[in-house]
Amino acid sequence: GFRMGIVGLPNVGKSTLFNALTRTAAAQAANFPFCTIEPNVGEVAVPDPRLDRLAEIAKSKQVIPTRMTFVDIAGLVKGASKGEGLGNQFLANIREVDAIAHVLRCFEDGDITHVEGRVDPVADAETIETELMLADIESIEKRLQNIVRKVRGGDKEAVQQERLLRAALAKLEEGEPARMVEVDEDDAKAWKMLQLLTTKPVLYVCNVAEEDAAQGNAHAAKVAEMAAAQGNAHVIISARIEEEISQLDAEEAAMFLDEMGLEEAGLDRLIKAGYGLLNLQTYFTVGPKEARAWTIREGTMAPQAAGVIHGDFEKGFIRAETIAYDDFVASGGEQGAKEAGKMRAEGKSYTVADGDVMHFLFNT
Ligand code: GDP
Repeated sequence: GFRMGIVGLPNVGKSTLFNALTRTAAAQAANFPFCTIEPNVGEVAVPDPRLDRLAEIAKSKQVIPTRMTFVDIAGLVKGASKGEGLGNQFLANIREVDAIAHVLRCFEDGDITHVEGRVDPVADAETIETELMLADIESIEKRLQNIVRKVRGGDKEAVQQERLLRAALAKLEEGEPARMVEVDEDDAKAWKMLQLLTTKPVLYVCNVAEEDAAQGNAHAAKVAEMAAAQGNAHVIISARIEEEISQLDAEEAAMFLDEMGLEEAGLDRLIKAGYGLLNLQTYFTVGPKEARAWTIREGTMAPQAAGVIHGDFEKGFIRAETIAYDDFVASGGEQGAKEAGKMRAEGKSYTVADGDVMHFLFNT
């Protein structure tokens, strides 16, 4: 599955937000026993009204949403790259995530100490980014020492890696994150394999006071400007509101959101923004036993999409029977879609579309 790491300076509202996430996950876990919850890892269902609609039509016994994993990565402080705070452990944790949710304090509260003594989310974002850049520089320098030997030995992959590492290092030494390096398509895979911290896409989470949750505030506006300039995303959330919502049942939560002038829970917006940032999309498998959603990257072809369910589905892939979501709904289900000629047989080179209802045929 896809993993988002939650980072941020101390006292910005990370644990409040993470606890709300995991409490929501725990509530869901009653229905979805496969959802694992560890102290710093929460698997949260991705809300998707299309899945409920499909299950209703197919009279599926079980509805299984797709999930996104959130990892609470504590310990990021000024000097972290020098081993202060939790040091290297959390850097290793960040390496493993697909994207970073960076919580920024956008609320004023004299009772809650700010580590730098002032509320300035843009400066905070720079503090954290600087630590990540320093960590990248250090790891690149280490890796370059080892790689030089392999390059001398004529290892082609090492030659490519060295070139990419040097490009990243040059950018970082100019004070810019490695994501600013322009990478050719031929290098894209090797570039990703480097797992540099400052190449991960960032979603800024502006934690605002309850009364600013609907409209945002001046701090959040500055973050939005910064995010846009970097090509990153942002969402406005009140961790305190999410904390309250996580303790309500669905009906109460809907009423509460309405009172606050919010259309959707912040956690739902957070998950959706993460989806967008990572270019993720959903396909469905639907039957009388279960209706289930699966996450893939945009542009994924049918065999690799099948591989998300099981490796054997990918290895033995023959073809896929596919119905677009709208056709499935309009035809009143699989049988109707078949009769209307809306079920397509698709082969290995089919690019799965968002909302496709898929049935895979494969050799075992
Ligand atoms: P962390 O260190 O980033 O994990 O921050 P916490 O989640 O522990 O929050 C630090 C303190 O800020 C706690 O006392 C929270 O209750 C408080 N806090 C979090 N979000 C808000 C907010 O939106 N408004 C106010 N006034 N306090 C908040």
